[in-house]
Amino acid sequence: MSTAFVLDHVTILTGDRAGTTINDAAIVVDTQGKIEYAGPRKDMTARVGYRYYDGGNRFVTPGLINAHAHLFSDGKPLPAFMTSEKAENLVAKFMHSKPGELLLNKRTKTNVLTQMNSGVTTIRSLGDARYEAVRVRDAIERGDYLGPRVYPSGPLLAMPGGHGAPQIALCSTTPAEAAQQVRDNLAAGSTAIKIAATGGVTDAREIGQAGTPEMPEEQMRAICETAHEAGIIVAAHAQSAEGIAMALRAGVDTIEHGASMNDEIVGLFKDNPNSLRGSSALIPTLQACLPLVKLDPKVTGINEIVRANAEMIYEEMLAGIRDALEHDIMIGMGTDSALTHVTHYNTWREMDYVQRYGGLTAAHALHAATQANAQLLAIDNITGSLEADKDADLVVLDTNPLQAGFRAFTDPYLVATRGHVLQQPQVKRFDKLDEKLDTF
Ligand SMILES: [Zn+2]
Repeated sequence: MSTAFVLDHVTILTGDRAGTTINDAAIVVDTQGKIEYAGPRKDMTARVGYRYYDGGNRFVTPGLINAHAHLFSDGKPLPAFMTSEKAENLVAKFMHSKPGELLLNKRTKTNVLTQMNSGVTTIRSLGDARYEAVRVRDAIERGDYLGPRVYPSGPLLAMPGGHGAPQIALCSTTPAEAAQQVRDNLAAGSTAIKIAATGGVTDAREIGQAGTPEMPEEQMRAICETAHEAGIIVAAHAQSAEGIAMALRAGVDTIEHGASMNDEIVGLFKDNPNSLRGSSALIPTLQACLPLVKLDPKVTGINEIVRANAEMIYEEMLAGIRDALEHDIMIGMGTDSALTHVTHYNTWREMDYVQRYGGLTAAHALHAATQANAQLLAIDNITGSLEADKDADLVVLDTNPLQAGFRAFTDPYLVATRGHVLQQPQVKRFDKLDEKLDTF
């Protein structure tokens, strides 16, 4: 139960593609945390016994949905000696120990709360160390503390020696083994499934490794079939046309990061018989590469191989967005938080980047993070827009992000998550990192 309230004197930004706004509006929320009314003030009937918040002519958006997060780290760049394969393996070993597990629980909790306090009311975690995000989700749903909605994937599914392996992945070499790992993840409480279809940037040991296809199509198909049987969609990390085509043919529902598209890929995005709901969507995550490309390697501390792969994948992601726009393919929003330079409070930067570098309109960028993400995660019946009967997931901002920029999300005036109100929530920032990110 939450307190019923009226949020009065606001402009509603609906989160549709066109950027529709409702001026001189109000939102009414019931004790179940559901929206009773959202629309013009003049059509609102009087409410008695509701808590009253004066919006002071501020702007309200639907709560943000981060469809591609990781939660095991805070996103602060690691010192160079920590990024060697050896160091990564040592860290992974520790994370899989009992004290490591406790540390991960704590970090994951901190990070989901940071996202919530910056306006993210729903998180899909795509690649956890183990099941720490499941435990945090369970604690939130039990009511141990207030938190956002979390859809955790548990460890991602990869090839031996492939992207994410062995640190944050379960590895398989046959379709049967891969299908079993899906069942294991679901039995452990996961409500999302993630595949590493191709190599990645941060753990590539060679130039060009980032987009190289890794998992065979039939293995990915076994994963998709098993997940779809349970009603769960599948996300695939895929950073080349070849890898994307294989993943889409296998039935993957969301392509993470993306690359330039050929006719087959365009066709499969729009009409994908092997996907759960008949079509697939693109989630670009520009933040995964942009800082590594825009900042001097002396500043980021990355080596030549990571830098070259980041540049290549960044260009491919931009090409993927361009093709998605041209062919009207659904674009969602994810930050790839926890990766180097991607903090949990900088979700707004992803919307800023897809607008400034990806060519989306501001309205489309907000749409990707709200209504589109809700649709592609099939949670648009409960969140993603400000309409009667949906959960009251919303953010109140001092300035209009569609006109004054997404930086408006750095200091929300108010966040509501499933009807629970947080007034002027604060987050811990990394000022030095933000200064660097503000240079481009
Ligand atoms: Zn990721």
